[in-house]
Amino acid sequence: MIHRTADTWQGPRWQNELTDLIRSPAELIELLELDPALLPSALAAAGDFALRVPRPYAMRIRKGDAHDPLLRQVLPLGDELLAAPGYSADPLQEKSTNPVPGLIHKYPGRVLLIVSGSCAINCRYCFRRHFPYQDNNPGRAAWQRALDYIAADSSITEVIYSGGDPLSAPDRHLTWLTQAVEAIAHVRRLRIHSRLPVVIPSRIDDECLSWMTNHRLDTSLVIHSNHANEIDAHLAEALGRVRAAGITLLNQTVLLKGVNDSLAALHELSERLFACGVLPYYLHLLDKVTGAQHFDLPVSRALELHQGLRDTLPGYLVPKLVREVPGAHSKTPVV
Ligand SMILES: *Cc1c(COP(=O)(O)O)cnc(C)c1O
Ligand code: SF4
Repeated sequence: MIHRTADTWQGPRWQNELTDLIRSPAELIELLELDPALLPSALAAAGDFALRVPRPYAMRIRKGDAHDPLLRQVLPLGDELLAAPGYSADPLQEKSTNPVPGLIHKYPGRVLLIVSGSCAINCRYCFRRHFPYQDNNPGRAAWQRALDYIAADSSITEVIYSGGDPLSAPDRHLTWLTQAVEAIAHVRRLRIHSRLPVVIPSRIDDECLSWMTNHRLDTSLVIHSNHANEIDAHLAEALGRVRAAGITLLNQTVLLKGVNDSLAALHELSERLFACGVLPYYLHLLDKVTGAQHFDLPVSRALELHQGLRDTLPGYLVPKLVREVPGAHSKTPVV
């Protein structure tokens, strides 16, 4: 049976939640009972990178608290508009590793497919806030070029669905794409990198689990959660179903000033993740993208926090501290 709301004719519940986003800074500020003085700068920064917040995510934000760690990830601030030396629009230089539309081949053995250019949420720290999504949103015919590229290179054993957010694509497209990937004999693993289950847990419905599991590929889902407060009962339940379907669950986090830059926050995140069957995978240093400079921390502080995790958690609950260095053949460990 497919997981639907009463208004079945409108399609799956997640699609309604994806359409019915909070897009107005004034609405967000009112709903969360925040100081209206935040509005002018929120409007100015939203003009550069729009505000988008799913309602199931907004419900987890504490009312009246401008420092809430979830709010800080979505509320546009005037700080985003300040010039910052060393920050750029394409810090990862992905444009140069984009051989065919919709495909990024940067690291040996695995390719990243930009399955969908859009996201359910706009995270203020996002390193793709200036990425040319439109040029990377191929139609089905263009997808064939990406599939041909994978088929022609037998060193590619893992295909990673990315974006934007790959789970913002409809299940019928994901079903078609996954069957096409499965048909390439040398591909063994499928990995899905998505923040959608975190922000709209109803995304994990039966139709979704069906294409994620009905094939021979060893599959993992890497969720992107930055704070334990994001992991509510709805998300825990959704993750339980993914795990029961035999999919390996991992998490990656971006280290963000004002969101999760304390040992207590990172420790609690690892604990909450494991309680939901998820292993911490990466803790990323912020990519130096214009507009996100106010989230940055000194490397010395990142190392101190990471050491704190090692001192207080079992090794399997300590994520790898990494950063992306343009031109490197893997994520670069921070030591
Ligand atoms: C992060 C990333 C990957 C995956 O790297 P892993 O270390 O395997 O998690 C692959 N391709 C690109 C372009 C990436 O940024
Ligand atoms: S969900 Fe991921 S890709 Fe989308 S805006 Fe947030 S960080 Fe960026």
